[in-house]
Amino acid sequence: MVKESPTQTKYVFVTGGVASSLGKGIISASLAKLLQARGYRVTIQKLDPYLNVDPGTLNPYEHGECYVTEDGAETDLDLGHYERFLNSPTSQGNNVTTGRIYQNVINKERRGEFLGKTVQVIPHITDEIKRCIKLLGTKKQFDVVITEIGGTVGDIESLPYIEAVRQLRNDLGPQNSIVVHLTLIPYMSASGELKTKPTQHSVKALLENGVQPDILVLRTEKPLNEDIRRKVALFCNVNADAVIESIDVPTIYEVPLRMLKQNLDLVAIRKLGLEVRDIDISKWEEFVEKVKHPKEEIEIALVGKYTELPDAYKSIVESFVHAGAANHVKVKLIYVNSEKITDEKAAEALLGDMCGILVAPGFGHRGMEGKINAVRYAREHNVPFFGICLGMQCAVIEYARNILKMEGAGSTEAGTTPYPVIDLMEEQKGVTEKGGTMRLGAYPCHLKKGSKSYDAYRSENISERHRHRYEFNNKYLDDFLTHGMEPVGINPDTNLVEIVEIPEHRWFVGVQYHPEYKSTVVNPHPLFVAFVKAAIDYKHDQK
Ligand code: GLN
Repeated sequence: MVKESPTQTKYVFVTGGVASSLGKGIISASLAKLLQARGYRVTIQKLDPYLNVDPGTLNPYEHGECYVTEDGAETDLDLGHYERFLNSPTSQGNNVTTGRIYQNVINKERRGEFLGKTVQVIPHITDEIKRCIKLLGTKKQFDVVITEIGGTVGDIESLPYIEAVRQLRNDLGPQNSIVVHLTLIPYMSASGELKTKPTQHSVKALLENGVQPDILVLRTEKPLNEDIRRKVALFCNVNADAVIESIDVPTIYEVPLRMLKQNLDLVAIRKLGLEVRDIDISKWEEFVEKVKHPKEEIEIALVGKYTELPDAYKSIVESFVHAGAANHVKVKLIYVNSEKITDEKAAEALLGDMCGILVAPGFGHRGMEGKINAVRYAREHNVPFFGICLGMQCAVIEYARNILKMEGAGSTEAGTTPYPVIDLMEEQKGVTEKGGTMRLGAYPCHLKKGSKSYDAYRSENISERHRHRYEFNNKYLDDFLTHGMEPVGINPDTNLVEIVEIPEHRWFVGVQYHPEYKSTVVNPHPLFVAFVKAAIDYKHDQK
């Protein structure tokens, strides 16, 4: 039966208090998942209070991975969670930063669109924030738009956003919006007590800005008893059933189920005046069961240079959770700093026990030689190998140097080389601005039948997302072909090489694009699934 959509788009604002990194993204995605499982069309948006126009220019050490959408937007990594949970694509409009808001307002001012008025934070910046929030709702594609406000209540940077929420709630009228506030209940081990005071203060800070939260989600290490819930409800002016516990769990994928148990979705539905519909969350439950009860564990090396901060590889890490579950195993990722793989001996010591080797994306020449050494180890020892973006480029360089005997072959990204087997794309040559100027977003790719990639995708035509400036140099295509490295994926419009394989090797696949951006709980990425399967087979063959 086709469900009738509510006539008015409903808005949920998710704010955070007390501390950062409490998991607003996961709570937003969990609520969205539950509403989606009840037949509502939901999208999630993230508003980031920093001045960068987008996170594309941020160092992964500062902000974790930069996630890329189908339409080529470089966005916050939380959008990755949204897509993985909801299995539906996001776009540029789903991530807005203060930098972009100001840029839009200043551009408008330069065009004279404010007709001589003094341009101010209120109303001009707040109007632009409200426009960006409502934009997702105006297309009538969604019943519910969830907007996550980055940062912590009380920060100077967050103020215009909270003010915009206050104004919007008035504009939208009753039952058309709610505020979910996520805070921390710290545990004092010396006295064995959970403390509610920071939450009370955080809600007060929101109230000072004219916003009363409707639902409180309390992050905690220990279960909250009835007393604590009642106390928080009383002091913070919310219903007792709107105080929700968010206890630490071993996998983020369990959070929606925990929220469901406490009726977070039903409380939201009631407050938004939506109808209660049946829920179907069985596929999600099956997935969580598989994640929690793997049949065995395999170790895969993730070779990269940002290994101290796993958030820098968030989508790759999550793709392995999905692919592990699909194969009934737990993939234990061993982070190997590529700068440490200085020679063959180091490669043996660091990679010798691995069931598979993934060489990660990256920028700049630092760590590149170590990645090339890791590829060589995988190739020579017939260990399953998966190279992503720079990882694929390193595979090409390694093959050129050691099989094609092109001494000093390399990527022009690392400096001049006699054999530029990886080179800057023609259209990139005049580009000087860094922000948003790479080859970004989804491009088509045609696969060769009989290749490992084709076997994984089971389709000749695929589309994958990109984020890079350099490419396989087609000048050397024949050299590679005649020596056993095959380009098995080609962009049909430009002839750019998107995938290389070594057919003789048990599983050696390098991809110029980023498959990790498209892996979701419902659709684990076929290449990750196939790579994990190859790693399991390798492990069993070693015994
Ligand atoms: N630095 C390489 C390029 O720009 C690879 C980028 C990546 O790994 N995302 O082509």
